Amino acid sequence: MISVVIPVYNEAENIPVLFDRLKAVLEKLNVPFELIFVNDGSADNSEEVITQLSRKNSEVKYINFSRNFGHQIAVSAGLDYAHGDKVVIIDADGQDPPELIEKLYLKSLEGYEVVYAQRIRRQGESMLKRATARWFYRLMKRITQIPIPVDTGDFRIIDRKVVDQLNNMPERHKFLRGQIPWVGFRQTSVEYNREERLSGETGYSYRKMIRLALDGITSFSNWPLRLATLSGFLFAFVGFLLILYTLYARFFTTDYEPGWASQMITIIFLGGIQLIGIGIIGEYISRMNDNIRNRPLYIVKDSNIKE
Ligand code: UDP
Ligand code: MG
Repeated sequence: MISVVIPVYNEAENIPVLFDRLKAVLEKLNVPFELIFVNDGSADNSEEVITQLSRKNSEVKYINFSRNFGHQIAVSAGLDYAHGDKVVIIDADGQDPPELIEKLYLKSLEGYEVVYAQRIRRQGESMLKRATARWFYRLMKRITQIPIPVDTGDFRIIDRKVVDQLNNMPERHKFLRGQIPWVGFRQTSVEYNREERLSGETGYSYRKMIRLALDGITSFSNWPLRLATLSGFLFAFVGFLLILYTLYARFFTTDYEPGWASQMITIIFLGGIQLIGIGIIGEYISRMNDNIRNRPLYIVKDSNIKE
């Protein structure tokens, strides 16, 4: 069986269209399937739309969260509930073309546990969004050891073996784009053109994007911490040279400056560096704290799936 996990946040208008397209492509594949809509606390009538669909179609399953928990958590919940031996993760807004599932599935049958959909073109997204996404994936590539594929969202097909591993990962700050490559096995990609949203607006504000980026970096790289240490050493060394120079100027020459400007610059600059260092450490510690607290990752209001 193939399970399709669809995170939903205010997508009422897109769901019926998506459903028809998914159904068409999955029926063509001739394997049983289930569609798991994870309603991540939508404020519109997505919930009613999904419930309606589920009445008429037994393949439609739903999980309603008690509030908005975020995209990555919605996908994780879908993976927890999925029964399929292959699972597709796809956005609800039509940006990931469902028709590509056929290609993903056939590729996975060649013996790949993970087949990514890698976008070669993105349409209808702002320049800033495309640029930040581009920089982010390239930065991740440099500062982590795991091969996170560039320009890849969560649209992919993964094998049950990988799903089980993901469900066993206890971390709360999910970054599936890093966790899936980390798992290993045989992974490959197929290319596609990213389309425009069918309707509605992105649920990913810059705020959410920054949070996702920080989760990705702190989960998979200690490089920022090392950077803080390195800059500390660098400035301590420069400071030491300055001390030598000051002592020399004070005792062996007559023309030493009152030096107000240089002092202010040093204090402000070093103050800034120190705050950055503390901030970086804070990012890691707050995540440790979240993990220790061990609250449930999400709260399900209701669902038609038996676990
Ligand atoms: N989404 C979600 N919770 C959120 C934000 C988004 O479940 O808090 C869903 C959304 O409905 C969509 C997918 O995650 O199916 C991707 O979100 P979106 O299209 O808004 O992001 P973008 O494509 O702009 O990066
Ligand atoms: Mg989208």
